[in-house]
Amino acid sequence: MFRAAFRQFLDKEVVPHAEEWERAGITDREMYLKAGVAGFLGFNAPEEHGGSGVDDFRYNQVTAEEIQLAGVNAAATGIGLHNDVCLPYFLHAATEDQKARWLPGICAGTSITAIAMTEPGIGSDLAGMATTAIRDGDHYVVNGSKTFITNGIHADLVVTAVKTDPGQRHKGMSLLVLERGMEGFERGRNLDKIGMHAQDTAELFFTDVQVPVENLLGEEGQGFTWLVRNLPQERLNIAMAAVAAARAAFGWTLEYCKERTAFGQPIGSFQNSRFRLAEMATEIEIGQTFVDRCVMALNAGELTAEEAAMAKWWATDLQGRVVDAGVQLHGGYGYMEEYPIARAFADARVTRIYGGTNEIMKEIIGRSLGV
Ligand SMILES: Cc1cc2nc3c(=O)[nH]c(=O)nc-3n(C[C@H](O)[C@H](O)[C@H](O)COP(=O)(O)OP(=O)(O)OC[C@H]3O[C@@H](n4cnc5c(N)ncnc54)[C@H](O)[C@@H]3O)c2cc1C
Repeated sequence: MFRAAFRQFLDKEVVPHAEEWERAGITDREMYLKAGVAGFLGFNAPEEHGGSGVDDFRYNQVTAEEIQLAGVNAAATGIGLHNDVCLPYFLHAATEDQKARWLPGICAGTSITAIAMTEPGIGSDLAGMATTAIRDGDHYVVNGSKTFITNGIHADLVVTAVKTDPGQRHKGMSLLVLERGMEGFERGRNLDKIGMHAQDTAELFFTDVQVPVENLLGEEGQGFTWLVRNLPQERLNIAMAAVAAARAAFGWTLEYCKERTAFGQPIGSFQNSRFRLAEMATEIEIGQTFVDRCVMALNAGELTAEEAAMAKWWATDLQGRVVDAGVQLHGGYGYMEEYPIARAFADARVTRIYGGTNEIMKEIIGRSLGV
């Protein structure tokens, strides 16, 4: 029922606008308000704060899958980021006062969230970040900048990784919530990407922003610990979406292979096409099985950083292979924007990069092997 209801929401409120939002380079904020009213935002949050009290990541998985199958990846990715990636910081690192302040808006869609770690000078090497937050009485003074921030234009609440002790690496990191309208908090360009056009991705600039100490998430110096705690869930979100994106691409390709003819026969009937489709179908099932296992492990509180890293790199690599083969099997039409496989191809490239690059995922796994 949840799957059908969410798909109905996408078909009514997102699919009809997706093209227009792709051209505009951003979705309409209204989408979040409508998702909030329909109960699709912050459903993991407690009921007293506007959520549904759902503590089962399979619901998040259903939303990730339906977004891909509806072909509205870029338009609706912000919902996944809001629910799966940002919300955990507000659920687990926030005090009761902070929850009462922020969760109702997050669940209603009036407060859109983002998480800002990456800076122009650093991405993979997070502990090398340069944005500082220096305590001055009852507030922090924040200076620095962030880049590539998903929901960066729309975001009202930005979980921002800062250095409260610039002399330290990991131990000097803290998380501050920067709010829309704070003086000295400016947004840069909505970045021009090769795919994911409807998803706003922006630079953020901080010049002497006075952030009240009440906006500190978790304890000072514990920022890196919170990131380590929550990043496996972020990576699983990417993996779930990647397998679903591969499944959607496979479906479009299979259909095309049945319809398109060459040399008097459907192109799917050539042995090369049939074998390629068979490989895709097999790999998707294998990927799905592992991702499903990781979702159950997350629900049980047992998902390790290494398993999440395995899921992230393998599922996104799979997505890359499937969309590439899908374009090839579509021939020239696969290169045309009007075919969903073309957009899926352009959108897919980033999943091997964001959420920690696939090389960093292999570092995490490799280190655990003692090598
Ligand atoms: C569309 C998009 C959305 C994004 N959304 C967000 C967001 O919402 N919030 C956020 O904070 N960030 C976001 N990012 C940033 C993303 O997480 C980073 O781009 C990514 O972590 C890589 O960092 P980097 O770009 O600085 O690359 P670098 O760290 O400079 O890496 C460059 C290359 O070097 C390799 N490399 C680096 N270190 C090692 C190593 N130790 N071993 C092996 N290889 C290595 C990398 O794998 C990569 O191939 C987004 C990026 C994009 C493109």
